[in-house]
Amino acid sequence: MTQAQASAIKPGDIQANLRDMLDRIGRAAVAAGRDPAGVTLVAVCKTFPPALIAQAHAAGVRHFGENRVQEAAEKLPALTHLDPRPTWHMVGHLQTNKVKAALQLFDVIQSVDSVRLGEAVARHALGRRVPVLLEVNVAGEASKFGFEPQEVPAAVGVLRRLPELEVRGLMTVAPLSPDPEVARPVFRRLRALGEDLGLPELSMGMTDDFEVAVQEGATIVRVGRAIFGARG
Ligand SMILES: *Cc1c(COP(=O)(O)O)cnc(C)c1O
Repeated sequence: MTQAQASAIKPGDIQANLRDMLDRIGRAAVAAGRDPAGVTLVAVCKTFPPALIAQAHAAGVRHFGENRVQEAAEKLPALTHLDPRPTWHMVGHLQTNKVKAALQLFDVIQSVDSVRLGEAVARHALGRRVPVLLEVNVAGEASKFGFEPQEVPAAVGVLRRLPELEVRGLMTVAPLSPDPEVARPVFRRLRALGEDLGLPELSMGMTDDFEVAVQEGATIVRVGRAIFGARG
């Protein structure tokens, strides 16, 4: 979907947006010879209010993503009534001094972008085994956080040895582009890295490129605007 199409979505249409979204995920999966059930949708609800998040939950969304600890700390208390309780994913850059707070809010940390951060997550796990993904800056963009691809094997090696972490896979944010094909080689590279390391989860694909991501093996797509509408 283009940015213009995403902006045309009305917030009240969450249920319809979601149906359309799952349909498109399903078609992309089947076209690639994959089982649609192998793709988990994480609705990225940053900037959207708890009322819309509750609407998405009522429409069946069970995984939500936020990119800032502070914002999550403000919104999640208004959502403790959601039943079944959704799984919360941290998808944004996390500072080590916010790890403790993050672990009180989030179930999964998708954005481990340094060994130091992974070690901090392990230190604050308090008896939990925290599912984490390592964020990879596949395209080497200066503006992005994440491991360089060549750093990933060593980082996975170190973090896998920490019993408090469950290193499940890799995450990436593709370069911003109106053409989803720009993301394809990035997703392909992430998949190859994950396969080499025996990591099952690949979190890749957002509103503009999730179909390409599913074709390239995404097990998690992180979608905001196509569900909630344009961010203000
Ligand atoms: C905002 C965000 C998304 C979702 O982006 P949309 O373009 O709204 O689909 C996915 N991943 C991360 C890390 C984000 O920050």
